[in-house]
Amino acid sequence: MQKIAIETCGLTRRFGAQLAVNEVNLAVPEASIYGFLGPNGAGKTTTIRMLLGLIRPNAGEVKLFGEPFAEKRLALLRRVGALVETPSLYSHLTGRENLEVTRRLIGAERKLIDRALDIVRLSADAHRRVREYSLGMRQRLSLALALLNNPDLLILDEPANGLDPAGIHEMRDLIRRLASEFGITIFLSSHLLSEVEQVANHIGIIHQGKLVFQGTLAELQAERHEHLTIGVTQPDQAATCLTAAGWSVKRLNDGLLGVAATTREAAVRINSLLVGQRLDVFHIALTQASLEDIFLNLTNNSAEREAA
Ligand code: ATP
Repeated sequence: MQKIAIETCGLTRRFGAQLAVNEVNLAVPEASIYGFLGPNGAGKTTTIRMLLGLIRPNAGEVKLFGEPFAEKRLALLRRVGALVETPSLYSHLTGRENLEVTRRLIGAERKLIDRALDIVRLSADAHRRVREYSLGMRQRLSLALALLNNPDLLILDEPANGLDPAGIHEMRDLIRRLASEFGITIFLSSHLLSEVEQVANHIGIIHQGKLVFQGTLAELQAERHEHLTIGVTQPDQAATCLTAAGWSVKRLNDGLLGVAATTREAAVRINSLLVGQRLDVFHIALTQASLEDIFLNLTNNSAEREAA
């Protein structure tokens, strides 16, 4: 049976009347890279703060490595490294000195500093003051800090935030390496599916505090149904006309319509129908939904369920 690094059961947190995290059941397999996705305000940081014991849940429980967090908090946290919000770095100290401060605080072995610097590829810049570091280098130093206790699990809240494309690329590489070479389980949050799908092999999607999807990346990709994308100058009339003819129609971005159909014959029939109604068709194409579409679909559906 696959071992689970993070498991939550009915995890719930309110702020006043607001349910920031609503009965979330996470299952993060050991040695996976788990992308925790959701739009801004979805509840990602609140969940992460509960996983790390920074705030208490109102209900539900957290297990790390199969052990209840509430009972074994300190022992479990020793196995976890975290990068949550921007950690405070001492900019007048060098990279190495920053690591030394934390190493003493947590009582880690001295050799772990060189190891952490090596992993994040900062050994050559370790003697430079942090005030001279780029944002990407600061972010890597923060990750080195999180690696000082030689963790089995890394929890990273929006690790790519604020980084330029080169920095994002480096961070992605680093995350992959930490998982493949060191066998560290990685739980990372992001609001960008495009970013997560490049590194993660497991995905959880949170929206308005609710987990609306959890599974492997392949399972999420299996939701990429094909459809016909129709461009017509009168989308409202076209939608009414197609619906009346029995087609299932969805609104896409830019006024385009998505019709649940996948064949050439269907495209021909739809085109004839619309043109017959004197509607101006300028585009028909067979399209595979992007992961972004799936994400929007899942999050919109859950918003509709809430409203119902
Ligand atoms: P972002 O990507 O913007 O950081 P998020 O998914 O991490 O978003 P959270 O920060 O967990 O979302 O916030 C979830 C909800 O809980 C938001 O509506 C937020 O306003 C609210 N919230 C979070 N922390 C607090 C707090 N300390 N007091 C009151 N409300 C809070």
